[in-house]
Amino acid sequence: MKKLPPSDFAQLREKTRLVLAGRDPADSYGFVNPAIVRGSTVIYPTMEDFLARKARYTYGTHGNPTIDALLAALNTMEGGAGVLVCSSGLLACTLPLLAVLSAGDHLLVTDSVYRPTRNFCDKMLPRMGVEVSYYDPAIGADIATLFKPNTRAVWTEAPGSQTFEMQDIPAIVVAAHARDVLVLMDNTWATPLFFDSHKFGVDISVQAGTKYYAGHSDVLIGTVSARTPELYKQLNEAWQALGVIIAPEDAFLTLRGIRTMHVRLKEQMPAGIEMATWFESRPEVARVMHPALPSDPGHALWKRNFTGASSLFAIELKPVSMKAVGAMLDGLVLFGMGASWGGYESLALPFDCRAYRTATKPGFEGPTIRFHIGLEDIDDLKADLEAGFARLRAAA
Ligand SMILES: *Cc1c(COP(=O)(O)O)cnc(C)c1O
Repeated sequence: MKKLPPSDFAQLREKTRLVLAGRDPADSYGFVNPAIVRGSTVIYPTMEDFLARKARYTYGTHGNPTIDALLAALNTMEGGAGVLVCSSGLLACTLPLLAVLSAGDHLLVTDSVYRPTRNFCDKMLPRMGVEVSYYDPAIGADIATLFKPNTRAVWTEAPGSQTFEMQDIPAIVVAAHARDVLVLMDNTWATPLFFDSHKFGVDISVQAGTKYYAGHSDVLIGTVSARTPELYKQLNEAWQALGVIIAPEDAFLTLRGIRTMHVRLKEQMPAGIEMATWFESRPEVARVMHPALPSDPGHALWKRNFTGASSLFAIELKPVSMKAVGAMLDGLVLFGMGASWGGYESLALPFDCRAYRTATKPGFEGPTIRFHIGLEDIDDLKADLEAGFARLRAAA
């Protein structure tokens, strides 16, 4: 297997690059996959080498070949200046905020933000002297009206992972960059395969790699990609200063997930849309929240900027008791009830975001449920839900 120079590698199409990236059999005794290299200490042959830190790897927290293999694949997908990894998706949200914000700064955060990120913004950032305010996810170019002289960054997430509200990322980027304000985005829903965040100007793009990258519900990992070398340097300095590292086993498993991510999402996207469309036809359902559906208020934005959809969406039921919802969900055989998503298995989860939103209150009248569609046969999933709706009606 001949090793391609970087310029030739860059000419390959994305699918091919995802198969090749971070893989050099010469480095792994000829085996296809990179070796899992564990280690803290690196031994230097001589004192001179040690004093000059003359070695490809210098210490476990400063780089590791298994993690580098993952970073190569991540860079290929994200298309930015550099990627960093950490031990959870939540940390991938909080660390870049720590890296770019200073005391006295103001941060704007979408009201549809992933709730634990919101928790960090409410609990930790004020203690660091950072002022946080929440904005309507649909604000678009009007974000400019919320900028203060000390606004340093805007946090975006599109679509939000409970209500699936879309955001006009390009409009927010234009307004922010006109004021030297950074745009950060939690791009977990679309993944870089379906939303090329850096191409649209997002400065720092975050993934809960726990979801579709890892893809098998067996790894916790976060990734952070920087659009420019300057930002990458700033993030990297924060990573080094904080001592952030991941286990090589997790790097290996995430890399293995990434090799098949195209294939999984190619199956899960139409399955998600088909299930969402099916829910729309159900008499028990008031509304389906999925930006790939033409009926969704975010559909035009999704169609304009996204090239695909993942398989996570939500429904609002017509008003019914939580007891009836429990009867529906508890009896499901194929849908597990649990947080997280992006694995090969289907999930269903009740949620209520009305209690904690501050900038806007979604006007739900009935209970809301989030679904993740896995790789099961869709007719089996429909039959399971059909029986669930029968239990819901019987308990209503
Ligand atoms: C799950 C999730 C995270 C956090 O990922 P963890 O690995 O579970 O910490 C962040 N953002 C979004 C949108 C998520 O769904």
